[in-house]
Amino acid sequence: MAFKELVFSGVQPTGNLHLGNYLGAIEKFVALQQRCTCIYCVVDLHALTQPVAVWGGPRELARNTREVTAAYLAAGIDPKKNIVFNQSQVHEHAELAWIFNCVARMGWLGRMTQFKDKAGKDRENASVGLFSYPTLMAADILVYRATHVPVGEDQKQHLELSRDIAQKFNNDFAESIAAAGFGNAFFPLPEPLIQGPATRVMSLRDGTKKMSKSDPSDYSRINLTDDADAIAQKIRKAKTDPEPLPSDEKALGPRPEADNLVGLYAALSEISKAAVLKQFGGGQFSTFKTALADLAVAKLGPIGAEMKRLAADSAYIDSVLADGAGRAEQLAAETMTSVKDIIGFIRH
Ligand code: ATP
Ligand code: MG
Repeated sequence: MAFKELVFSGVQPTGNLHLGNYLGAIEKFVALQQRCTCIYCVVDLHALTQPVAVWGGPRELARNTREVTAAYLAAGIDPKKNIVFNQSQVHEHAELAWIFNCVARMGWLGRMTQFKDKAGKDRENASVGLFSYPTLMAADILVYRATHVPVGEDQKQHLELSRDIAQKFNNDFAESIAAAGFGNAFFPLPEPLIQGPATRVMSLRDGTKKMSKSDPSDYSRINLTDDADAIAQKIRKAKTDPEPLPSDEKALGPRPEADNLVGLYAALSEISKAAVLKQFGGGQFSTFKTALADLAVAKLGPIGAEMKRLAADSAYIDSVLADGAGRAEQLAAETMTSVKDIIGFIRH
């Protein structure tokens, strides 16, 4: 069965939106709205999977939800053409997640690296939600029967799991899916869209760890709300090795910090890493870092300023979210009606 092209993606309101979120996700969201219908969600239910010290408690959650929404709008997402809303306003996400909890297998979830990384050594103390995070993510996407999902590289494994869940649901209920008139597949197998030189931006302190909202060190990331001085200082202090920049891209392989900074320059100036090295290869990091800082300030400065302006107008932000939630709910409710019929739940 052919599915209509539909884009879905989300960002957690866990504070400290950073350059990785922008280049790996939000910038891609903006580009995609030119060619198709897009649903962009602030996934507040996901934020609760982490300890309260990370998501910050009720006040912070509301503040961060508005801030992510403001970032979407400041980056250029049109909330009239697309659907922008926060997840908890559309209860069908949680409802479908329960069904997917019963479709997915323990073994599948046990292999997820995000759970292992975030739970760390103290797994017994991790929330059940952190373990089942990927089934809620599958529900977020599939409750709209979305076909394409722009994400950073770290979410690739979860996308594969979403496909496995969609496939198993289609197999398990094949007979009633056909009887309900949906042919041989009710859910599409959603495709990840992971492209370009900044799909995995690394921490500025440790080139082997991804840049993350929840990293306790603020020097590990460039926040979208950082001012020019903070951006320049963080880039100047970013960890590097003592060698000059190489001229050949292959030589970046064993040098994760250098590779990361070159990737950032490439993404920000929309050229290839090879082209960056053509310009800076053989030179010192200090020169390169100054150029990178100028570039980052030029790109992020206007977005950060607009984001702060919009975030201060909470009545406007809340109206955008309410409007988006209303439109999302209609689509999600339609899917859930069919899902209930397919499974055999009696409804009035
Ligand atoms: P947290 O630490 O709370 O998980 P996060 O920084 O990973 O925060 P998310 O809200 O989980 O942010 O992810 C939002 C989007 O940003 C996802 O598509 C994710 O793949 C992408 N993303 C997150 N970190 C990076 C990164 N370092 N490089 C590129 N993309 C990223
Ligand atoms: Mg994350």
